[in-house]
Amino acid sequence: MSDRFIILEEWKELKPIECPQRGGINFPCVICRECEIGDVTTSFEEHLILESTVNSVLVHIDLGLKERNDDIEKFSLKRVKIGLSKAIPAIQRSDWEEGDITIMIDDEMAKDPVTLQKIHYFINTFHREWPRFASQAKQAFTKWETQLVREIKFDYDNKFNEKI
Ligand SMILES: [Zn+2]
Repeated sequence: MSDRFIILEEWKELKPIECPQRGGINFPCVICRECEIGDVTTSFEEHLILESTVNSVLVHIDLGLKERNDDIEKFSLKRVKIGLSKAIPAIQRSDWEEGDITIMIDDEMAKDPVTLQKIHYFINTFHREWPRFASQAKQAFTKWETQLVREIKFDYDNKFNEKI
């Protein structure tokens, strides 16, 4: 727990820079990766990979999908990420590695302690809740599939019965 609070303190240190590669604009170095200012430091803890630069940080949350290799779960995560990225600016829609969800914190977000707390909370809870979300998705899918098969079978059995 204490480690996480150190991370939170570090994020408060994020500062805007002028990226020479991008004509002096403050572009997230963790995405750009083209100049020396944007040097990336990678660190690991539990289910997280953190890539830190002077003005931005990527937090990759591993949801353990690789071991399960479940297509419905992978697809559900993809859809959830697209939806969440539209609703919450820090959440990235792209896959860094299949089966993770990535958060980007930049210097602008780091200025707001409430935003940092929200991101921190998301990082600490999402990976714990994901198995439940994934099982809801699978249940919904199975329900649809069972219902559909029943309908098609019913049609198949009964469509021509009356005419014979
Ligand atoms: Zn740069």
